Amino acid sequence: MNAATCPACGGEECEVARRYSEVPAFQFPVSAELGREVVARDLALHICRSCGHLFQPTIDPALMKLIYEKYYAFYSFDTLQETSQVYRRSFMSMFDMVAATLGDIRRQTLLEIGCSKGESLAPFRELGFACLGIDPSPLLGSPQSDDGIRLISGYYEQIRLPEKVNVIVSRFVLEHTIDAMAHVGKMSDDLVDGGLVFVQVPNVAYYVDEPQPFFVAHEHAQYFSLRSLVELFASKGFAPVTFYESGQPSIVACFRKQRSDGVVRIASNVYDRWTAYAAGVDAAEAALAPIVEQAEHRIFYGCGLTFWWVFLITAGRAARDARLIDDSPASWGLWAPTYCVEIVKPDAKCFDGHPTVILTLSAVYHDRAIERLRQYGRPMTVVRLSAGRVERLELDGR
Ligand SMILES: [Zn+2]
Repeated sequence: MNAATCPACGGEECEVARRYSEVPAFQFPVSAELGREVVARDLALHICRSCGHLFQPTIDPALMKLIYEKYYAFYSFDTLQETSQVYRRSFMSMFDMVAATLGDIRRQTLLEIGCSKGESLAPFRELGFACLGIDPSPLLGSPQSDDGIRLISGYYEQIRLPEKVNVIVSRFVLEHTIDAMAHVGKMSDDLVDGGLVFVQVPNVAYYVDEPQPFFVAHEHAQYFSLRSLVELFASKGFAPVTFYESGQPSIVACFRKQRSDGVVRIASNVYDRWTAYAAGVDAAEAALAPIVEQAEHRIFYGCGLTFWWVFLITAGRAARDARLIDDSPASWGLWAPTYCVEIVKPDAKCFDGHPTVILTLSAVYHDRAIERLRQYGRPMTVVRLSAGRVERLELDGR
């Protein structure tokens, strides 16, 4: 049975890939007050056989309003300096490389969709582009047309541009769009012939190959791999110029508005790996959930994606008498929404009584975290997910 039509390639052979129950509507630390309020809802991911695109076929507008207008006041991705800089760097290195081939940039206009505060346009202005930014965020600020940056407050889909632009930049926007084809179709309408789009989105192929057991969010309707991204843009008359994604948590790609001959099929299909991925997640879940639930004195280390997954697979039971520690001072005193666990600064006393410490921060920080735990000089059991397998490590406290 066809579950839905693929929003990326229009393919009709789509099926349910995975169902998640009671996913909190916001997965970043918030105030204690808001923490109690954040709702949890079921979420179903569908997958397209033809291009491997993953998507939510239905989105609840009332839930989106709550997320964007209320919960997003606590959105902390921009403040996670380390993370956002890594993403920005990979975007700008591709942009600079292609921009160097563009000729006289001072005659060109650039539009950024979802420019957030408007400051993100400064590097493009420095290169010489006349810049236009569109964002619905109240943080946008006032227009500064005198210094070559114009800002428009609102949603891109609803804004009619005064003239066509040469370049469009879209960073971490497309995964939020409900009608991705209409969105990319508008990009084509707004671009001159031969104009370029630079796009950055999370790379679902990375999560599947890593493997990362949990990567969904209610406000993300679309989960692209390179293949589905290329199919989406090809369907609206774009040809790929260059891309950077292999082994990367995000895809950075550049497309040109030009007629291309036939369908471009590049990159492998995530659909072919999904069944094995899902079986691996089920096995990890079956191994980890009892360890977490049976631990007498449990400490979660870090508010990363694994944290939300552990609470999901234990239906929130992991929260009972749990402590949540984090190294980032910005999150101390805040709470994990829905489950209502306070995030505290770790100190040696936390680790009295031989606790079980579950590493729930990003795997790239695991080695550093284990080293820190050793320095507390207390016996403890460390549990982590490594390459999809549950690992247990005993620290003897010496
Ligand atoms: Zn598809």
